[in-house]
Formats: sequence, C-alpha cells, structure tokens
Amino acid sequence: MKAFAYHQPGQIPEAAKLLAAEPDSKLVAGGMTLIPTLKQRLASPPALIDLSKLPGLKGCTDNDATITIGAMTTHAEVAKSSLVRARIPALAALASQIGDPSVRNRGTICGSVANNDPAADYPAGVLGLAATIITNEREIAADNFFRGLFETALKPGEIITAVRFPVPLLAGYAKFKAPASRYALVGVFVAKFRDGVRVAVTGAGPGVFRVPPMEHALSQGFDPASIAAIRIDTDNLTSDIHAEADYRAHLVTVMAKRAVQAALSERPAS
Ligand SMILES: Cc1cc2nc3c(=O)[nH]c(=O)nc-3n(C[C@H](O)[C@H](O)[C@H](O)COP(=O)(O)OP(=O)(O)OC[C@H]3O[C@@H](n4cnc5c(N)ncnc54)[C@H](O)[C@@H]3O)c2cc1C
Repeated sequence: MKAFAYHQPGQIPEAAKLLAAEPDSKLVAGGMTLIPTLKQRLASPPALIDLSKLPGLKGCTDNDATITIGAMTTHAEVAKSSLVRARIPALAALASQIGDPSVRNRGTICGSVANNDPAADYPAGVLGLAATIITNEREIAADNFFRGLFETALKPGEIITAVRFPVPLLAGYAKFKAPASRYALVGVFVAKFRDGVRVAVTGAGPGVFRVPPMEHALSQGFDPASIAAIRIDTDNLTSDIHAEADYRAHLVTVMAKRAVQAALSERPAS
C-alpha cells in the first residue's frame, strides 16, 4: 500500500471540497472493497476521505410510499432493521445474504451501489425496486444509474447520501452464491407494483440488467409458472471460471422463479 493523506471531514460540503481539491482521492465508507484494492496496489489515491463522521448518513426512515436508507448504513443494519423487514422484507433478506458477518458489519449500502460490482447484490435490489440514488448534488433514477462493469452515472466529486426505495406490493430476492466468495453467480430481484412488475438480474453479465419478457409475463400473472419457459439470450452474459454463459442463463430463470415464490410467501429465498 502506498502512502496517502487521510481526511475525516465532519460535514458533507467539507468532504465535497476535499474531493474537488484532489480529484484522484477516494471516498472511503466501509472500506471492504477499497482497502483490499489499495493493498494490492490496484489503486493509489493521494488521499482517502473517510465518510464515517458525516452526520445524517446512517439509518432507515419511511413515509407512506417509500423507505430511505442513509449511505453509511451497513448491510447488517439493513438486514436487522425492523422498518425494512416490515415494509420491504426482500431488501432485508438481500442484505442478510451479503458476504459474511465481518463484511456485513463494515460494508455499506452506498459503498456497494457506488462500486457497482457486476456480482453485487444491492444493484439488483436498487434496480428491481426502481429506487432513486440521492447525492449531494442531485437525484438519479436507478434505471439511469448503473452503466456496466464498475461504472455508474456518478460524476467526479459526487457523494451518495442515501437511496430511496418505493415500497412494492410484493418483492423477492433469490441468489445462487459463488461458494467461495458468496457473491452472486446469479441473483434475481423481483418487485410487484400497482403499475407492473420489475425483474433485475445481477451476477450474470457485466452489469445489472432488467428482463422485459419476464416483467411482461409476471405483470399478466404473478406466478413462477408464468416465467418457467422464458430463457434469456446468452449473448451478453459472462463466461468465466465459475460458470459458462449458458449455465448463467439457466440460473436466471431458476432464480427468477424462486424470487417470485419468495415474494408470494414473503420469505427470504436462497
Ligand atoms: C470477502 C468479501 C465478500 C463479499 N461478498 C459480497 C457479496 O456476497 N455480495 C455483495 O454485494 N458484496 C459483497 N462484498 C462487497 C461488500 O458488500 C462491500 O461492502 C461493498 O462492495 C463496498 O462497500 P463499502 O462500504 O465497504 O465501500 P468502500 O470499500 O469503502 O468503497 C467502495 C467504493 O465506493 C466508493 N464510495 C463509497 N461510499 C460512497 C458514497 N457514499 N458516495 C460515492 N462513492 C462512495 C468508494 O470511493 C470506493 O470507490 C464482499 C466483500 C468482501 C471483502
């Protein structure tokens, strides 16, 4: 790891100013992804800007139609939140399946969303629920936020402060874990709203994506049988040492069916 300056600002404008002063510096949230990257010298930022002392970035709040989760809320806190468990149990179930206890106790929702790992769980929940990413500068719809492999719509210097989730009628998440890392080989988040169904897939390709044929079929009939015959194209899917594209395509249908079943029974699926 190379030497770097370390800042611990107490206010968001101060953090933004530090970031603007040294554009190659990095925000650090839980450090679960960033610190190993520094240790391996895959990144050598001149400074780290620690978000942990910024006020108002932790916790879950709700109103009639939405839940808002602060950027620095850990996966463990989302998994245990009585509010999230009551109103979007599938999101709490998703958070409870991330990594292991040490990752869940340090890693944060917005660290995961900003990082946009192609096998991360939160991008599926954020896109599947049509969430809104709130930054210190603007609000970005999930449909416009994820841009492929580790890329997002965030501009240099932008800090995510929270994610706002519409509360669905029903939702479910099912994940086929890579045994060693516990990242998603394929994970599917399904959410039913009054005006239709959304299906978001992580792990299968270079970034999270929606599956319109499944969304259409589930909008007609919200039942695993409605999508049993739908198989997605392998063209844009990943083949690597863990699984061929063909196997991932098969898993998308299997996980989508399990996610629908989980939504119907309001139980976490695995
Ligand atoms: C062993 C292991 C297993 C894991 N398994 C899983 C898994 O099963 N599923 C899964 O989804 N993830 C998994 N992860 C990743 C984990 O969820 C991380 O917590 C997450 O990817 C990053 O969150 P963080 O808070 O640690 O962010 P950091 O590592 O601190 O930051 C990650 C990136 O996001 C940027 N960033 C952080 N916060 C903000 C913000 N508020 N605004 C703008 N940019 C920001 C940072 O600058 C950095 O570029 C695993 C990690 C490890 C080490």
